[in-house]
Amino acid sequence: MVRPKTEEEIELLRINGDLVSRTLAEVGKVVAPGVTTLELNRVAETFIRDNGAIPSFKGFEGFPTALCISVNDVVVHGFPSDYVLQEGDIVSVDCGTLYKGYNGDSAYTFPVGEVDAATRKLLDATKASLYKGIEQAVDGHRVGDIGHAVQSYVEPLGFSVVRELEGHGLGKKMHEDPGVPNYGKPGRGAKLCSGMVICIEPMICAGTRGVYVARNGWAIHTADHKNAAHYELTVVVRKGHAEQLSTFDYIEKDGTINF
Ligand code: MG
Ligand code: MG
Repeated sequence: MVRPKTEEEIELLRINGDLVSRTLAEVGKVVAPGVTTLELNRVAETFIRDNGAIPSFKGFEGFPTALCISVNDVVVHGFPSDYVLQEGDIVSVDCGTLYKGYNGDSAYTFPVGEVDAATRKLLDATKASLYKGIEQAVDGHRVGDIGHAVQSYVEPLGFSVVRELEGHGLGKKMHEDPGVPNYGKPGRGAKLCSGMVICIEPMICAGTRGVYVARNGWAIHTADHKNAAHYELTVVVRKGHAEQLSTFDYIEKDGTINF
């Protein structure tokens, strides 16, 4: 049985959720054709440290950098590199923070310049499926309700769900129980109760759902090399509703950037 978080713990997770949200927005400001993914990583690491926190991914099981940056057919766990972003690319940015012993974890897939209509549809569907999943993160439901909501939203649109990776609980550790798959059956799996803090993170493929691990042991690619998108938010399970601890509002509602 997963121990629900206390309200004091939730406040620390909320601070982290806010910081990862603001970090992703800082990254979004510099996403553009001609920018390297290492530059995105530099912006994020500087911002996290300037806010008195630690980039939690750096050093996690040997991961080298503050951000996971996954371009086009890379689903997740890509390394920032000297790759120069091109018009029409998509870049998935996964960010983790550690502040006062608790974690933040969220991800956003940014279009680079103008993307084609099919790619726009993949991004929109993946993000919408995340919110469908969040609607199910309420006391008394099960993780299968979340997975089913994601899967039943994206599959009729012609997209597929990565099975090998899933969301997770969040607390003092970056990955806690329960696992939160992005597929499943209603009423199945671990039970959700008030105070549980989970990350919901659909990883959705434009083509078929097969993936493989790159030779570096980290980057997960689609087997058909079609694009994949990844959006992640942290929520608290409550009675009758889920409460978001992280948000895309800083990316989408502040300033003039319209992703
Ligand atoms: Mg993440
Ligand atoms: Mg996560």
